[in-house]
Amino acid sequence: IITKELAQKWFTVFAEKVIQDKEQLSEYDRIIGDGDHGMNMARGAQQLLSSWQETPPVHLADVFKQAAMKWISGVGGASGPLYGTAFFEMAKAIGTKEELQHEELVNVIKAGFDGIRKRGKSEVGQKTMLDVWAPAIESLEEKQLTTEILETTLTKVTALKATKGRASFLGERSINEVDPGAASSKLFFEALLEAGD
Ligand code: ADP
Ligand code: MG
Ligand code: MG
Repeated sequence: IITKELAQKWFTVFAEKVIQDKEQLSEYDRIIGDGDHGMNMARGAQQLLSSWQETPPVHLADVFKQAAMKWISGVGGASGPLYGTAFFEMAKAIGTKEELQHEELVNVIKAGFDGIRKRGKSEVGQKTMLDVWAPAIESLEEKQLTTEILETTLTKVTALKATKGRASFLGERSINEVDPGAASSKLFFEALLEAGD
């Protein structure tokens, strides 16, 4: 069950993890892209944490709306609008609900996933954040999501060849390199596990 408090914990843990792994995420992006993923994401994370000091969320959907605003306006790059869209679509799927049962949570995350696909004109298998979201959603549906599964998932994504985004310019050379967006998405689902569902 997800409430406003748990959702806020989810995003707080996500933001803290992103800030903590900022260098690592940018290092991955330096190899496969332009080296800014950690900086981009940490900026949104920091802005979200500080915005909560001034404007704490009132409703469950506000947590996602505020995150969407920070990611869309503050993060930039490909990941800003993509995560921003995901969070916004999640807020829309929540609507006025103040509590999500497990099945509802899965549907909300699916709405976020569809948001990324549409905005990114991307599909599973192209070595992007979607390749973490899709298997994570499947495992969540079966109530089987663990940090080990997320770890294995990221390893599988690493073996893929990128066919979307900046990393696709590398072609074959993207194989066996970690996709930074997949790595940050892993943090998003780890944070959910830590916040508890
Ligand atoms: P940029 O590539 O503009 O510098 P970032 O470095 O912040 O943006 O984010 C790169 C990440 O965004 C990639 O690692 C990938 O996971 C994700 N990404 C890029 N393009 C797409 C897309 N069209 N659909 C889904 N994810 C994408
Ligand atoms: Mg980049
Ligand atoms: Mg960039």
